[in-house]
Amino acid sequence: METLRALREHIGDCHRCPLGDTRNSVVFGTGREDAHVMFVGEAPGRNEDLRGEPFVGAAGRLLDELLASVDMSRSDVYIANIVKCRPPGNRDPRSVEIDTCTPFLREQVRLVSPRVIVTLGNFATRFVLGTTAAITGLRGIVHRRGHRVVLPIFHPAAALYDRTKRDVLFADIALLPGLIAGGTVHGPGAALYAGDDATGGGLFL
Ligand code: SF4
Repeated sequence: METLRALREHIGDCHRCPLGDTRNSVVFGTGREDAHVMFVGEAPGRNEDLRGEPFVGAAGRLLDELLASVDMSRSDVYIANIVKCRPPGNRDPRSVEIDTCTPFLREQVRLVSPRVIVTLGNFATRFVLGTTAAITGLRGIVHRRGHRVVLPIFHPAAALYDRTKRDVLFADIALLPGLIAGGTVHGPGAALYAGDDATGGGLFL
């Protein structure tokens, strides 16, 4: 595909996996087409499925607050999910659904070509980094994948009613400006740089 628009048209009214039979909307992704930062979540929830946009509702508002804390807004970034359709009852996406849908995410990453990928929560982090480790041990650690960096953070939904996680989220997102600038990482992430891993896993296979 040459453009995100062409990719969206290619996906169309998708029924390539079983999620196509139960969702209302294909939630493709939104934001700046040449963003330096891409946020990757798990899957659309009920509000996203109804609106056709990623990260609406309370978790979306917290994401907006996080962006504002580093002088950014949604118009500065690109936001997408691992799978584009809501799993029934918000269950975890299944392997066949992930395998069928993630070529679209890979294409979005190729087209937007972000410098930084911020993974939101366990599921997205595990997929993007190709790991089974938990977000609690990975968050705030900067991972290199070729010429991109990956910053795992808690999912905003997990921090809505947890003040401690919320504080951690704001501390982790504070690493973002330094990563976008491509300079030295200051703060907690500096000591935790996971080093270069050009082979990667997950998203970077
Ligand atoms: S989840 Fe992805 S592959 Fe499955 S129907 Fe939706 S867009 Fe198609």
